[in-house]
This record gives sequence, structure tokens and C-alpha cells, in this order.
Amino acid sequence: MVESATLFNREYMSKILVTGGAGFLGSHLCDRLVASGMDVLCVDNFYTGSKTNVAELFGKPNFELMRHDVTFPLYVEVDQIFNLACPASPIHYQFDPVQTTKTSVHGAINMLGLAKRVKAKILQASTSEVYGDPEVHPQPESYWGRVNPIGPRSCYDEGKRCAETLFFDYHRQHNLPIKIVRIFNTYGPRMHPGDGRVVSNFILQALRNEDITIYGDGLQTRSFCYVDDLIDGMMKVMNTGEDFTGPVNLGNPSEIKMLELAEKVLRLTASKSKMVFKILPQDDPKQRQPDISKAKAKLNWQPKVALDDGLKLTVDYFKAVLNL
Ligand code: NAD
Ligand code: UDP
Ligand code: UDP
Repeated sequence: MVESATLFNREYMSKILVTGGAGFLGSHLCDRLVASGMDVLCVDNFYTGSKTNVAELFGKPNFELMRHDVTFPLYVEVDQIFNLACPASPIHYQFDPVQTTKTSVHGAINMLGLAKRVKAKILQASTSEVYGDPEVHPQPESYWGRVNPIGPRSCYDEGKRCAETLFFDYHRQHNLPIKIVRIFNTYGPRMHPGDGRVVSNFILQALRNEDITIYGDGLQTRSFCYVDDLIDGMMKVMNTGEDFTGPVNLGNPSEIKMLELAEKVLRLTASKSKMVFKILPQDDPKQRQPDISKAKAKLNWQPKVALDDGLKLTVDYFKAVLNL
């Protein structure tokens, strides 16, 4: 007979749910949580993520993978929830915009309902897109943003804004412990090769010696954060006290023009590619740079990886993907 003491006296491991855990950021987060000894349940419908991203975790006793769409209710028992499920690149989220809004809004309601039932702490992966095409630069959390509510990016931007509203209403109405991080452009290994984002596009084009596609005049700016830095920040936010809800910006404040990024990638890959100019997509923000004063003050967090170093690691990853 098994003694009940054997069953119940085992060391308690926190049970963590990561939605969208088979995606780019989610898989890095699962790696880190599993390595730190947490009991991780990764939930994903594999819309843009893949089992390959978490393949190295298969077989570990503290990792589980479940195929599930967060727009449907989910009944599991967990202590913490990282809600990352949502396609993140413009090509992917504009492919089925209605589903994108459903994932952000219905997905948030379901995960908040779950958190409420099991009394879990819940973190939302929000985005710099809540600031839209900003008139305030750099963007602090206090800026309400300039988002077009009816454009091609709106399914994502407004979906994410509504999710933030839901998080705060569950917090106010049901006293739920919430955390919101506003993630700025992040890059690194395991970015989807077909996601059309600028870092993956430029690197793949350069490695294949194809034309580098600059949208518009290339003078628009972004600020790129390496994935490891971002995951550090996200985990720090989850571990803050109950009084810290965010929203808090997570990103790398070093801003760069897309033309300069193309030149950097060409140099790092010693590519023969030429730059070609294409039409700028509608509602493409002209500038974006996080104000990370809050993250520095409240979390003692700031990115450590320089763009050149992060790009080199990402180039190595895509070389392996292309068998180069
Ligand atoms: P990603 O597309 O690689 O990952 C999203 C994951 O969610 C994928 O694995 C996908 O299959 C899954 N998913 C999508 N819809 C789902 C659904 N209905 N049910 C279950 N799973 C679903 O994108 P990412 O870059 O890893 O982004 C992760 C999160 O971070 C997203 O919420 C995104 O909005 C946010 N974010 C990312 C960035 C960035 O630069 N990468 C910037 C801002 C915000
Ligand atoms: N929900 C879920 N898992 C749970 C608890 C709730 O997916 O463990 C879903 C449930 O389907 C509901 C949503 O979360 O639609 C919101 O739940 P809440 O309790 O806030 O609202 P209500 O059930 O009263 O609509
Ligand atoms: N971009 C580009 N060439 C590409 C892909 C993107 O010049 O092949 C530009 C795009 O117009 C935008 C910036 O790079 O100004 C960042 O685009 P991405 O889709 O990576 O992210 P987001 O616009 O969501 O910040």
C-alpha cells in the first residue's frame, strides 16, 4: 500500500500555464521555467507555433504540451498563467483578423476566468502596438496611444487593448492579481521564418543573396530587444508583489532606422544582396522606442544584449534553418 505521506509530502512545484508556449517567445519562456524547476503546462493550437520549438523539452517530467485553442474554455489547475497566445507578426495576425481579435479577447476572458477560479496570478503579453503610430516619443506607459480602430492592424492593436481593459476590470471587480507587460519588437532564434517581420526577412534575404526589401523610405524606426533579455524581464514582472500590476514596457531603447538595420545585416552576413524599396504597409508606425524608466525603477531590469551580438546569434540560427 502506498503511504499517503509518500503521495502528499513531495516538494511542491509551482504549476505554470504558458499559453502560446510553442511560439517564438513562449518556447523560450518554457525553456527557462522548466530549467528553473517549475511544473510547466504549455498550451498552443500551433497556429504560428510548432512542436519543434519545444521538442527539447519533451520527456522532461516537469513539462507537458497540450493542443488547445484559448478561445475555448480551459479547465486546469495552476498557480500562475503567462498568457502569450496570439499571432504576433502583421502577416500572421492579418491572415484571419477575426480569429486574431477572438484570440485576444475571448482568450483573455477564458484565461482570466480560469485564473479567477483557481486563484492564480496572471500575466498578459501585451504590445507596443497599443500605442499605435505614436505622437509621443519615446513611449511611456502613461501614453494612451494613437490607434486606428478600423485599419488592417486594428484586429491586433484593438484586441490587445481590449485584453488590457479586461485584465484591469478582473483586477478591480474580482481582486485578481494581474500583470501586464507591453512588449516592444523582440527578435532571436526561433522566429518564424515566414512571419515577414523585418529581422527575419532581412536575415533570410541576406543569407540567400536575395534583394533586401525596404518598405517605404526605410527611415522609420524600431527598437529591437534580444529574446533572452525580454524573457528575463517577463519573469521578473511575474515575481513582483501583488501591488504591481503594470502595464510596464519591456524592450530595448536603442532605436534604429530600417535602412541602418539592413546595412548591419548585410555586413554581418557578408551578403551580396541589394536593397530594393517597396510600398510602406498601411498604418505602419513611423517610430517606436520604449521608455523603460518604469522597468528600471520597479524591476531593476534593462536589456544587456547589444543588437550586433543578438543579430549574430539570430543569423547563426537561420543559417542552421537553411542548412548553410
Ligand atoms: P508567435 O506567433 O511565435 O507565438 C504565438 C503563439 O500563440 C503561437 O505558438 C501560436 O500557435 C499560439 N496561438 C495563436 N493563437 C492561439 C489560440 N487561439 N490558442 C492557442 N494558441 C494560440 O509570436 P511571439 O512573437 O512569440 O508572441 C508571443 C506573444 O507576445 C503574443 O501575444 C504577442 O502579441 C506578444 N508580443 C510579441 C512581440 C514580438 O516582438 N515578438 C512584440 C509584442 C508583443
Ligand atoms: N473559464 C475557463 N476555465 C475556468 C473557469 C472559467 O475557461 O477554469 C472560462 C468560462 O468559460 C467563462 C470565462 O472563463 O466563459 C469567464 O469566466 P468568469 O467566471 O469570469 O465568467 P462567467 O463564467 O460568469 O461568464
Ligand atoms: N519592414 C521592412 N521590410 C520587411 C519587413 C518589414 O522594411 O521586409 C519594415 C516594416 O514596414 C516596419 C518595420 O520594418 O516599418 C518593422 O516591421 P515588423 O513587421 O518587423 O514589425 P512591426 O511593424 O509590427 O513593428
